[in-house]
Amino acid sequence: MAMMNGREYIESLRTMNPDVYFFGQKIKNIVDEPMFQPHIHTAAMTYELAHRPEYEEIMTATSHLTGEKINRFTHIHQSVDDLVKKVRMMRLLGQKTGTCFQRCVGLDGLNGIYVTTYDIDQKYGTNYHERFKNWLTEVQKNDWMPSGAMTDARGDRSLRPHQQKNKDTYLHIKERLDDGIIVSGVKAHITGAINSHEILTMPTRTMGEGDKEFALSFAIPSDTKGITFVFSRQTNDTRRLDSPLDAGNPKYGIVGGEAIIIFKDVFVPKERVFMAGEYDFTTELVETFAGYHRSNYGGCKVGLADVVIGGSYWTADAHGISKASHIIDKLTDMIAMAETCWSCTLACSYEGYKTPSGAYHINPLLANVVKLNITRMVYEWMRLAQDIAGGKIITLPSEKDLENPDIGKTIEECFVGKEGFSTSDIIKMLRLIENMSVGAGLPEAMHGAGSPAAQKIMIARRSGINRKMELAKTVAGLNKDKYFESIIGMDENSHWDEVKKKIKGKKVQIY
Ligand code: SF4
Repeated sequence: MAMMNGREYIESLRTMNPDVYFFGQKIKNIVDEPMFQPHIHTAAMTYELAHRPEYEEIMTATSHLTGEKINRFTHIHQSVDDLVKKVRMMRLLGQKTGTCFQRCVGLDGLNGIYVTTYDIDQKYGTNYHERFKNWLTEVQKNDWMPSGAMTDARGDRSLRPHQQKNKDTYLHIKERLDDGIIVSGVKAHITGAINSHEILTMPTRTMGEGDKEFALSFAIPSDTKGITFVFSRQTNDTRRLDSPLDAGNPKYGIVGGEAIIIFKDVFVPKERVFMAGEYDFTTELVETFAGYHRSNYGGCKVGLADVVIGGSYWTADAHGISKASHIIDKLTDMIAMAETCWSCTLACSYEGYKTPSGAYHINPLLANVVKLNITRMVYEWMRLAQDIAGGKIITLPSEKDLENPDIGKTIEECFVGKEGFSTSDIIKMLRLIENMSVGAGLPEAMHGAGSPAAQKIMIARRSGINRKMELAKTVAGLNKDKYFESIIGMDENSHWDEVKKKIKGKKVQIY
C-alpha cells in the first residue's frame, strides 16, 4: 500500500471498530462524530501534505528498511538532516492547523524504541529489534498512525508500580504465554488515541527490579478486543455542537484529542512485544523518547505562534490600531520569543548524533531547554495575543444571537471594525485567538512531553555542572592553567611573584 492522502486516512478509520466512549455514551462511528471530527481533520493534514509537491522534501523520506518513499511520520532518522526536517515539518503543520496534529508521539515512540531495542538485544541476546523492524515495515507499508501510549494512570505517586494497591494504575503483564503476553492497566492522556490505527506502548518511568512486569513495550491494533478508549473533555468542546463560528477553530479543534486507554486482559502476540521485563532499559527508553518529543515543541508550538501572531496583527488592523507603537512592541516580543524557541529546536537537531542502532538522536540537554522555554513562553505570547485582542474575546455573543432577526443587526453594527472588515470575520478571528490563548492549549504546553520539573531534572543531570565548576576554578587560579602559563612563558606562581615585585611601592595616581 502506498502513502495515504488526507481523505484516504479518514476512510481507513472506517475499516476499524474501536471501543470508544464520550460523555458516558458509546460512540459507534468515530469518523462522523462532530466532537471528534476536528481532531481527525488535523491528523489527516499529516497525510495530505505528504502528497503535495511543495512539501514533499519535508513531509516524506526514504525508508532505510525498504528503500520506498514513506511519510516522514513513519521514518527512523538517518541523519542530522532528517532531525532538522522533522522539526521543520512540525512548524509547517502547526502553521496549517493551529493545533496539535497528534502524530508525533507515535513517531518519537518509533525512534525511541528502535534505539532501545537495539541496545537491549546487545546486552541480553534477545530479538526485540528484529521484531520491531518487522512491525515498523508494516507501519511504513500501510502508512499507519500509531499513537504513542506512554503515561500510565500512576495512582499513588509516592509508591512504585509494583507497590500500588491497584496494579491497573500501570499497564503490566498479567500472564506470560508461549506465544505472547496478557496485559492489563490504564494509560492516560494519550494524544490522537481514538483515531490511530495502532497503539504503541512504552513504560512511563524508570522501573526497578520489583517492577519487571511493568517494564513493557508492545504494539497492538487500536480495535483489539479488551481495549476501551474514553475521550477526554476540553475547554469549550461542546461549542462544536452549537455552531462553527462559536467553536473557534472548527476545522482543526484544540489540542490533541486525548483519551484514556483501558487495557483489560488483552492478548499481545510475541512478535509485537518489544520489551517484557528488561527494567534496566526503562530509563533509556523514557529518556530517548522524551528527548525526541521535547525537541518537537519548538517546532509545533512555534507554528501555532505564527498563526496567533498573524491573527493578532489582523485583529489590530481590523480595529485600526496596527501601527500603534504599543501593538508593534507586543507583536515584536511575540515574534522574538517564538524565534528563540525555534532556534533552540534547530540547535538540538543540528547537535544530533548517531546512536549504536544507526538512528540519529537529538541533543538531550538542548531538547529539555526547548521544552522548559515552551512551558513559559507560550503563556507569555498568548498573554500578549489576549492583550492585543481586547475584551471582546471573552464577551462575544453567540452565532445564534447574530442570526436572531430582533438583535442580530444591532450586534453586527456594534462589532464592526474599520472599513473593509466584516463583523463576522472579526468574530471568526477573535474566536480563533480565544480558542488558542484561553483554552486547553496552555496546560498542554505545560505538561505535554512531561511537566517542567521533569525537564529541570534532565537539565540538571546533563548540564555538566562539575565541568563548569572546574572552569571557574581554572579562571580563578585554583587550578593549573596550562594555556595561561604558555602565554606568559613560566609557571603561574613565579609569574605572580614577579608581578608582586613590579607593583611593590607603586601608588595609584590620583588626579
Ligand atoms: Fe506533535 Fe506538538 Fe502535538 Fe506533541 S504537542 S503531538 S509535538 S503537535
